[in-house]
Amino acid sequence: MATARLSQRVGAGGGSIIGGRVTLALDPGALRRLASGREIVLVSGTNGKTTTSHLLAAAMRSTGSVAHNASGSNMPDGAVAALAQDRDARFAVIEVDELYLAVVADAVDPAVIVLLNLSRDQLDRGAEVRSVAAALSAALIRRPRMTVVANADDPMVVWAAAPAHRVTWVSVGSGWSSDTMTCPRCGRSLDTTVKRWQCGCGLARPTASWTARDGAVHTTGRRVAVRLRLPGAFNLGNAVMAIAAAAELGVDPHQAAAALAEIEQIAGRYKIIRHGRHEVRLLLAKNPAGWAETIGLLDEAKALLVVVNARDADGRDTSWLWDVGFEDLRSAAVMACGERAADLGLRLSYADIPHTTVEDPLAALDLLPPGKVDIVANYTAFHQLRRRIGRGIG
Ligand SMILES: [Zn+2]
Repeated sequence: MATARLSQRVGAGGGSIIGGRVTLALDPGALRRLASGREIVLVSGTNGKTTTSHLLAAAMRSTGSVAHNASGSNMPDGAVAALAQDRDARFAVIEVDELYLAVVADAVDPAVIVLLNLSRDQLDRGAEVRSVAAALSAALIRRPRMTVVANADDPMVVWAAAPAHRVTWVSVGSGWSSDTMTCPRCGRSLDTTVKRWQCGCGLARPTASWTARDGAVHTTGRRVAVRLRLPGAFNLGNAVMAIAAAAELGVDPHQAAAALAEIEQIAGRYKIIRHGRHEVRLLLAKNPAGWAETIGLLDEAKALLVVVNARDADGRDTSWLWDVGFEDLRSAAVMACGERAADLGLRLSYADIPHTTVEDPLAALDLLPPGKVDIVANYTAFHQLRRRIGRGIG
């Protein structure tokens, strides 16, 4: 059951998983042994972990070789595959699904854990955000030598990370807050009227030693410009998390920022692809928090294809679509696509967004006039599209 779910979740995640699973099946201690003697950073959270791990790997490569599960295979066997593939790398940057972070941390004894955010992802994955945070917290307390680089703006992350022995707080700027209107510690409403959120029980936003602001990272009196090719304020936040984590391993922030400036796509995301008469930009959004970030990136002059599947890896329940602010869409034309195009179409109708429902995204693309198109797809839909239209991109 667990194995089946795993293989379905990784879906098109790639061949790296197969090697990883074989290694684990042969030797349960593989992860521990492969990790031994290296400096390991684990990157986890609900949104942004693939992007942040790519940015961090780029920053670390400016100083030495890095093993990295670049394909986004973020289960324990993905970590094994990455470490096995690059046995001589001094550093490893491993993206880890938040549900597996505790078990992977116990195996690899990381130097640093990067904790980005904790919000709802798949409604049917069973675990409440708060219980995930509690399990993480226990894992962090067990590792006194490890540093946690944690998002000070996310109350759930603060509640989980605050008891850890060493925490470096990072302010990533504005963020998703719908899941954190109440205090994770006591359940009371959070006071967010002040600049820093706080609760009567004492849980409050810690003072950050790294802050993302105005296209730069600010730390202890220094300002380091961060000129990203990746769009959006949330990617600046991801970059600052990466720069702060790299600094924990001795990488100068200027050097790290220069490495990040070279990156223009993350595993196919943000890349512009020519497909027939269209110039397509492929974006991934798999939950309401991801959509809250993505909606601001969409170009009003462009047509938009939204592609939604509901396979195991996506979560079978599509009711998360009702928490997405589709009312704010301003795209020139909207197409509802994917295996759950009908669910999406219904949601768009309630949002009063004129749209056309066509299950096959490429058929929908053919119906649009030539020109630029944004495509926003959830997890398995993204990987299907990447295979169909993105051949040859890295
Ligand atoms: Zn409280």
